[in-house]
Amino acid sequence: MLGENCGITGAYTIDKIASYLLYNSLVALQHRGQEACGIAVLNGNEIIVDKSLGLVVNNFNLERLEKLKSNLGIGHVRYSTTGTSSLSEAHPIHVKDKNVEIALAFNGNIVNFLKIRKELKEIGYSFETNSDGEVLAKLFFDEYKRTGDVEKVVDSIFNKLDGAYSVVALTNNEEFIAFRDEHGFRPLNFGIDNNGNILIASETVALDVNEISNFQTINPGEIFIVKDGNYKRKKLRDAKPTYCMFEYVYFSRPDSVFENKVIYEVRYNLGKELAKTYKPDAEIIVPVPDTSRPAAEAISQMTGLPVVEGLIKNRYIGRTFIMPTQKERDRNVKAKLNVVKSLIKDRKILLIDDSIVRGTTMKRIIEMLRKAGAKRVEVWITCPPIISPCFYGIDIAIHGELIALNKNVEEIAKEIGADKLCYQTMEGLIRAIDHENKLCLGCLTGNYPTKQAQILSDDMKNKELKERSRYWEIEAR
Ligand code: SF4
Repeated sequence: MLGENCGITGAYTIDKIASYLLYNSLVALQHRGQEACGIAVLNGNEIIVDKSLGLVVNNFNLERLEKLKSNLGIGHVRYSTTGTSSLSEAHPIHVKDKNVEIALAFNGNIVNFLKIRKELKEIGYSFETNSDGEVLAKLFFDEYKRTGDVEKVVDSIFNKLDGAYSVVALTNNEEFIAFRDEHGFRPLNFGIDNNGNILIASETVALDVNEISNFQTINPGEIFIVKDGNYKRKKLRDAKPTYCMFEYVYFSRPDSVFENKVIYEVRYNLGKELAKTYKPDAEIIVPVPDTSRPAAEAISQMTGLPVVEGLIKNRYIGRTFIMPTQKERDRNVKAKLNVVKSLIKDRKILLIDDSIVRGTTMKRIIEMLRKAGAKRVEVWITCPPIISPCFYGIDIAIHGELIALNKNVEEIAKEIGADKLCYQTMEGLIRAIDHENKLCLGCLTGNYPTKQAQILSDDMKNKELKERSRYWEIEAR
């Protein structure tokens, strides 16, 4: 089991309401992971952890939150990128001995976690899971136990890890900290409400729902420490920003702001870029809900074609893309989207979606549209072709599973059953996000911002493995 993209949050409060703020925050971050959720709080000198499989609202109720009453806490929603979901892999991860306790939750993926795990094993640590989260938590614990100084702990973590990690952690010494790797792949923000409560969250939407509109970014390479009610920020490394372009294209909520860019506006710009590049042969625009709506609106404005909600999403099904196995993904597409046949029949459709990874979802959607009587299906994708895996916490499969690897656009169109397929250009993507030279484009180019990810990608490609999990089995030996 390796890696996850998740949502994290942390709170320091004045009057023991941390668990309530964390709950609100986790509900707002639910789209970042639906397999498990958890909260850890400080109770005196002890850390209490409460975690479950499934959605936040289905697990935490008033009674449970009341038992977690505290001024300090952290929370997490999780999905796994490979393997199955299990409670032992859910966060926050709690590590303790007689004197020291820590709880930690993270969002991202540690590329060199096997090496660190081996080193920790050599000094006596044992592991219950194969997750990188457990390795990070035990590394944090080990450093904290030896130094008792969270700045030294994070400095050492920065020295040792390769990968993406936005982290919140709690110690039994009443410290609450957050930090973000020097590349800042994943978002991390903080804000303070009118009562002086401090909240940290992966996405700004989680601060909004807690009525904190004044938020700031925790910078790449920075540590944020709350102790005795005061907070301190410290730059431990110079930032080398490579923000994940997929946070903008797909993953973050449209009402969030990531590095000063409103996600909705970026997605609108992606639509504008497509409409500047291509001329559609269509009568109506149909967005694949929900991520592509802003792009569809922009294309409509520029082409004069109407946007028609010809695909209706069942809101109670999880995001297809983040289900851990192909079987679950297949079943979910059918249950998740339905066609309004009267809107589609005999029409030429311009279908808008954010990305094509394996191609299975898109193929099924086109089949459904044709079955409903669509005369023509032209597909526009707001992101360029994905040709390489992600090693930083987004579930983009190994090379062999990617539909765009080693195929031209016509071949991909044929495979998914589209009459025409148009991808965003790389220039269009970069213009739309407007963070030139500060983006990770690894899955689009095969060039990764960190050394170990590049080595891993080249190695996996050479071995032509069909399953990513198999790679880790081999490497773990
Ligand atoms: S490889 Fe792709 S999905 Fe992964 S962090 Fe980079 S841009 Fe994001």
